[in-house]
Amino acid sequence: MTQQKCNSPECNLFAEYKAPLSPDNLRQYQWFCLQHIKEYNKNWNYFENMTADEIETFIENDIIGHRKTQKIGAANSDYFNKTNKIREKLFNSFDEIGNKEFSSTLLGSEYINALAELNINDKSAPLEVIKSKFKDIVKQLHPDTVGYKEENIEKLKKVLESYKIIKNHYERFKSK
Ligand SMILES: [Zn+2]
Repeated sequence: MTQQKCNSPECNLFAEYKAPLSPDNLRQYQWFCLQHIKEYNKNWNYFENMTADEIETFIENDIIGHRKTQKIGAANSDYFNKTNKIREKLFNSFDEIGNKEFSSTLLGSEYINALAELNINDKSAPLEVIKSKFKDIVKQLHPDTVGYKEENIEKLKKVLESYKIIKNHYERFKSK
């Protein structure tokens, strides 16, 4: 880790957490200790100023782009239990759908899995809702907001993948 001091005035702790300088300058960072990164993020969360698409690009380039795939650890069990429950619910409710728009051909298992990954349990959730869910989850997992955790990077990857699947689905659907 970088041995530098926290950017907060009068704090002499080592800074292990980085935050972007400004919404327009996401590539340059300032560094904080744990306590001050928390305060910083509370006061100004830079994800608020980004669209879902900007966040998508940011994660892809900044977080995943530099990393090799690693196994998904057992530490994720809560997360998987949660998404599995949603998945189950979505699959079970296929029978109840009379609406042809959301037939099983359009909403294949890939799409269901993607929704579950984003903690969305409504098959017909509008894209705007999906985008805001995506932002929420990214905020919860991103190393700049919660500190670096290997398992979170893995989740971020899955979340990003899922977001893309959903977006593609919507684009295909709209063009019909
Ligand atoms: Zn500090």
